[in-house]
Amino acid sequence: MRLFFAIELPAEVQAALGRLKPKDDNRDYRWSDPALLHVTLAFLGEQPELQLEALQRVGETAARAGRSASLRLGAAGSFGSRGSPRVLWVGLDGDLEALSHLQARLDAALREAGFPVEDRPFRAHVTLARRRETARGGAPAGWPPQDRLSHAAFTMDHLTLFQSRLSPRGPTYTPVLQFALGSWRRAHRVL
Ligand code: ATP
Ligand code: MG
Repeated sequence: MRLFFAIELPAEVQAALGRLKPKDDNRDYRWSDPALLHVTLAFLGEQPELQLEALQRVGETAARAGRSASLRLGAAGSFGSRGSPRVLWVGLDGDLEALSHLQARLDAALREAGFPVEDRPFRAHVTLARRRETARGGAPAGWPPQDRLSHAAFTMDHLTLFQSRLSPRGPTYTPVLQFALGSWRRAHRVL
């Protein structure tokens, strides 16, 4: 099964992101269905199903060390060349420290359990669109949009292991395991 760890986004945040797709989409970019938008923390690729148990332990370890946090959408940007970017994305703002910390814990736990991890430094983003192989033009007109979607705030309170199924009609993602972030606090003793 094809698997990845990610942070889920609430539907209203997904919808706000979906509105960034240009009306005159020129087909050079493949825009994700808004309902699929998420923040990838670790991509595992194809894994045997019997690794799920190990991945459950990894998720628990990482989530236990994490904490729930307030995040919001940040500025839009892209990866790849300026003229013909490969990936169009929207960044995040807010308690990014909590997010990076969670990703680092996850990365360490995966490494320790023998899973392949990326060497590239983590850059939190939501991928909105990817350039098609057949693309001829550059980035869509008006990209990156200047409007900050700062009203789109949300609470990150769990980590999700997703299964991805690819098909010619586009991918589908199914949550397989969800891990609450260890957000409990010791009650303050007043007496
Ligand atoms: P498609 O591959 O059909 O474009 P997709 O990229 O949305 O669809 P997956 O390839 O299964 O679906 O990827 C799932 C998630 O993992 C996405 O957020 C994707 O950006 C991320 N991802 C995929 N491959 C990698 C990779 N090699 N390194 C880092 N992240 C990846
Ligand atoms: Mg892919």
